[in-house]
Amino acid sequence: MSAQKSSNPPSDDALSKPVEAIKGVGPRLAKQLCAKGLTTIEELLFNLPLGYLDQRGGIEISGLRPGDYVSFVATVLSAREVHYRRRRIYEAIFTDGTGTVTGKWFHYGRWLSQRFPRLKGKIRVSGRLRSFGRRLEIHHPELEEVCEPVEEERGTIVPRYSPIPGVAPRAYRRIIEEVLTTFGPQVEETLPDAVRDYFRLPALRTALVQVHFPTELPSIENRDRLAPGLRRLIFEELFFLELQIIRSREVLAQETGHPMTLERDYLRRIGKLLPFALTQAQKRVMREIASDLGRRRPMNRLVQGDVGCGKTAVALLTAFIVIANGFQAAVMAPTEILAHQHCMNMSPYAEALGIPLTLLTSKLNSGEKQRRRQAIASGNARLVVGTHALIQAQVTFARLGLVIIDEQHRFGVIQRMSFRQKGGSPHVLVMTATPIPRTLAMTIYGDLDVSVIDELPPGRTPVETRILDARNRRQAYELLRQEFSRGHQGYIIYPLVEESDKSDLKDVTSMADHLQKDVFPKIRLAMLHGRMVSEEKQEVMTAFARKEIQLLVATTVIEVGIHVADATVMVIEHPERFGLSQLHQLRGRVGRGPHRSYCILMHQGGGPETRQRLAVMEQSNDGFRIAEEDLRLRGPGDLAGLQQAGFGDLRLANLVRDVNTLEAARRAALALMQKDPDLAKPAHAAIRAKLQRQRSQAAELLRTS
Ligand code: ADP
Ligand code: MG
Repeated sequence: MSAQKSSNPPSDDALSKPVEAIKGVGPRLAKQLCAKGLTTIEELLFNLPLGYLDQRGGIEISGLRPGDYVSFVATVLSAREVHYRRRRIYEAIFTDGTGTVTGKWFHYGRWLSQRFPRLKGKIRVSGRLRSFGRRLEIHHPELEEVCEPVEEERGTIVPRYSPIPGVAPRAYRRIIEEVLTTFGPQVEETLPDAVRDYFRLPALRTALVQVHFPTELPSIENRDRLAPGLRRLIFEELFFLELQIIRSREVLAQETGHPMTLERDYLRRIGKLLPFALTQAQKRVMREIASDLGRRRPMNRLVQGDVGCGKTAVALLTAFIVIANGFQAAVMAPTEILAHQHCMNMSPYAEALGIPLTLLTSKLNSGEKQRRRQAIASGNARLVVGTHALIQAQVTFARLGLVIIDEQHRFGVIQRMSFRQKGGSPHVLVMTATPIPRTLAMTIYGDLDVSVIDELPPGRTPVETRILDARNRRQAYELLRQEFSRGHQGYIIYPLVEESDKSDLKDVTSMADHLQKDVFPKIRLAMLHGRMVSEEKQEVMTAFARKEIQLLVATTVIEVGIHVADATVMVIEHPERFGLSQLHQLRGRVGRGPHRSYCILMHQGGGPETRQRLAVMEQSNDGFRIAEEDLRLRGPGDLAGLQQAGFGDLRLANLVRDVNTLEAARRAALALMQKDPDLAKPAHAAIRAKLQRQRSQAAELLRTS
């Protein structure tokens, strides 16, 4: 064993052990866990329940309360397709002898009717219980075959985890029990006693047990009633995030980069290449950037601006300044589709200026990748556009002067740092369309300077947004037809709770079939969803951009940043399942050309509150206003989009719900770094070890992504 390895504390080893180290987990099970990103003991311990089933009381149907998320064991009385007017619905009736509950599916495929004959014995039915007249219903319930008696779970609170394909929930719960029993005692405390005392946080071990197998039903939504165990884990996550931010800022402060000079003539020349004049806001942001670039200290700037405000032009001009100074510039996008799009958009300008442009994504064949890496390493490639592939260890730059990270919300602090390590402290420019309320931005982007583009280019007609009752769906189809006849294109968007969820995917697939067959037989239609391999997605997007496809039936994988000028209609199904900010992001895909554009929110069910919330979309096109409205109306519960934003590293914390905890964690982290800047004290060994583990995990992620 090397000296370096043995200097790690023992807890480090226990937590980073692979899942195979668990009794009862063989290669097959390990593979299924790994596919879900659960490769180590630590990852299992920190994969927390999404919620809990309260089975302390009766779990009989007669005792269930409408409105609750329920789970009961029953048999199938009947299952069949029924027709209400022109709609098909699949209905199944479940009973346990004390009552009946009807399961309903509004979107489904043949798989569902094929599944029922196989469900002979007892099954567990889970979902949100509703009352419908005197009937109890669950829409789209989860079904799970029950092989063993469930008696042992009677009288307990049962954790509910994100489903893992191929692993039954009960089997997964067993694994977690085993992990807590065997490895729990080896989990070392990571927070200093003083911090724990001050914020009244339970020990890490205790917290983990409490969160996985609570004895009291904890509230996940309400921040004032968060269970202490969960609060502790959230605090810890934010504490380490802040430590990283503080440390990275300190590293940056000491860095010296490459000051750039600006030649006015050159700037004028590239300015002329653009087919439009910059807006005042774009000019202001360019001045801020130019002044950063001239300094010794590397730029570290975030440009925030609503979709369509013209961030790409700013990126392009910045890149050209740096390239004119003899350096390379790299543009990193979160997806292949966006990387390709940037490449397409930038290449005419690069060509006009005689600047060699290279695209690097992980999907290239290895020979080609090798060739392009060579061009980057030799410095021949001056403007490099790519995905995560750019931050892999094998990629080296000859003279990297600038990194532009587009649509930042998929990249965390760690990823940003890794770019810094790639070549003599390049300037970093981060672009995002995720509007973040100001107070929050301060804490999250503590290490970034912020510029805002608060003006849209002239001549934009705001997207006309309308809430439409789903019963009047035909009007939306009419609108689509009208736009198709004008040579325009459209989107229909379906929410997917989880991209990996098969049943949701079937919904989209069966709807696409239905639309093609019954509604738009003459229209060229394609599907786009997260389960498609990236070449397929790429192909579909390119075909859509070339207008070979008129209607795109998609999940939310249609990215922020996708730009198709002739797309004029977006129909969003189940808008109530999205946060306003997310709806705003989606809506930004239309209204990108000179034509009048529309967004239809296909409202179904939900009370007046839902409608009131959605009405904000009809009234405003301002991303920041919408974000703040979202916060106000939905309360600090979950500002979708922001939570989704994830900042790369956050798994438990919700930046809106936990904003107070975030501030507390920041204060604690600052105090610690002041007392012990190098974390050299023995009492802080566990903190040091965890930071190191996070760093090597990040490195691992970069190697394998
Ligand atoms: P985003 O900020 O969402 O990345 P883009 O950079 O993709 O926005 O710009 C959206 C569209 O607006 C593009 O077609 C771009 O050419 C155009 N555009 C950008 N700046 C201006 C401007 N100053 N005047 C007119 N059109 C502009
Ligand atoms: Mg963009």
